[in-house]
Amino acid sequence: MRRNREAVIRAAERRSREDAAARLRDEVPELRSLSLQIEERDGSDDGAERECYVRLVVVERAPALFELGCRDRRCQGGGYDLSAPVIAALRRRQVRFDGRCSCRGRRDGRPCAHELRYVAVAGYGTGGVVVAIGTPRARARRGARQRWSSPPGPVGNAPEASAS
Ligand SMILES: [Zn+2]
Repeated sequence: MRRNREAVIRAAERRSREDAAARLRDEVPELRSLSLQIEERDGSDDGAERECYVRLVVVERAPALFELGCRDRRCQGGGYDLSAPVIAALRRRQVRFDGRCSCRGRRDGRPCAHELRYVAVAGYGTGGVVVAIGTPRARARRGARQRWSSPPGPVGNAPEASAS
């Protein structure tokens, strides 16, 4: 029960980090499509516990953050952060690239043995037309958010003195 709750909390933390992160669209404006083929293993050679799935990234609104949770329910503080290598490869306009990452968590007091491998397939736009339309709009959205996030200044004629 406690671990279940921890997983829920971690997922929520991940989401708030994703919300706060820069947008993928701003980091790699020419990116058009991205899919990540994920394979997670439990570290044993026979690969008995193996999970494969494909994560399609919605390029238009995805954060420039690629964090995945560890699937081992007994793992504490685990997860994978693929952000740096994936974004670096996207900036180099690599169409297909792969990598691996070890879980940073601990299980039963020892480092978690889970390992994640990924194969990314990316598509990029040619020509500047779509980028030219997309960029000012993204900038306007950011501007609007910044305006609203700053608290309103002090308002004159405070009504509390007029009670008597
Ligand atoms: Zn783990």
